[in-house]
Amino acid sequence: MDSSKLRYDGRVAVITGAGNGLGRTYALHFASRGASVVVNDFGVAAQGETGSATPADKVVQEIISAGGKAVPNYDSVENGERIIETAIKAFGRVDIVINNAGILRDKSFAKMTDKEWDIINNVHLNSAFKVTRAAWPHFRKQHYGRIIMTTSPAGVYGNFGQTNYSAAKHGLIGLSDSLSQEGAKYNITSNTISPLAASRLTETVMTKELLSVLDPKSVLPLVAYLTHESVNVSGGLFEVAGGYVSSARWECSKGAVFKADQTLTPAAVKQRYNEINDFKVGALHPNFKNPIDYLTLMKQATQVKS
Ligand code: NAD
Repeated sequence: MDSSKLRYDGRVAVITGAGNGLGRTYALHFASRGASVVVNDFGVAAQGETGSATPADKVVQEIISAGGKAVPNYDSVENGERIIETAIKAFGRVDIVINNAGILRDKSFAKMTDKEWDIINNVHLNSAFKVTRAAWPHFRKQHYGRIIMTTSPAGVYGNFGQTNYSAAKHGLIGLSDSLSQEGAKYNITSNTISPLAASRLTETVMTKELLSVLDPKSVLPLVAYLTHESVNVSGGLFEVAGGYVSSARWECSKGAVFKADQTLTPAAVKQRYNEINDFKVGALHPNFKNPIDYLTLMKQATQVKS
């Protein structure tokens, strides 16, 4: 497979929030490689609420002028069904869903309102659910689908002032992991990317020096690879920024096994806390195919002298 020439002829890609930043980069690329593209964008300011058709229209015009195929969709991602409906009406199918639309409402937790919590969880997590759920029956029927969820370093590791955003973004990892399992027998893959890129969202929070090395185009090759028909990677979480691409996974310490009786006290945990928290020897990397073997651990526990 020559990945510099990956093509998507006959495929239909739905990209949310494709009027700016990362989504725009994806839309232009997929269209230039033969896909028909639904350019969804509600046209909001990074913090704002009001919709505008302009960003989606501009990207569609760019694609059409370059000889590609694209239609705009101006719905908020909160109305995921309508976005997928646009794909079906215009192109008769949907093959790729890139859940990318996003906004920020940063606030310290002490000042976080219900409204700020809800809008961020709606736009990021609930909307990815709605868009993907609307595409799911089509994916299952055609035994083919490629899904990307967009988390963030804040979603993976947390970030000061972003409890709403990091909770929603972390939820997307769980959504994708479970979808990768439910989709496996239908040739539906789902992966999560954690990008960093210069865009409206980051221009006020990153240094000029950092922004200068974070071209959104450097996120694209990973997304293009993961969504190609020849690639069946699924359930992955990838960090991607300015030419750095890596795969992230869970790590559990080897841990301590206690006899599960009255001797398992807070004091017993305190005594062996260093062992519980020791990642140097025998750390595990569990996942759904290779979960922690609780049965063996329980059997070991029964042999532990209290
Ligand atoms: P961006 O602001 O340049 O683009 C986001 C687009 O989403 C905008 O065009 C906006 O109009 C659209 N949008 C917002 N709310 C919408 C809604 N309800 N319905 C439809 N469209 C809507 O931002 P970006 O940096 O390209 O971000 C893209 C995604 O990547 C977001 O999910 C963001 O959280 C995530 N992300 C970005 C970075 C980064 O460094 N840029 C880092 C981590 C995660």
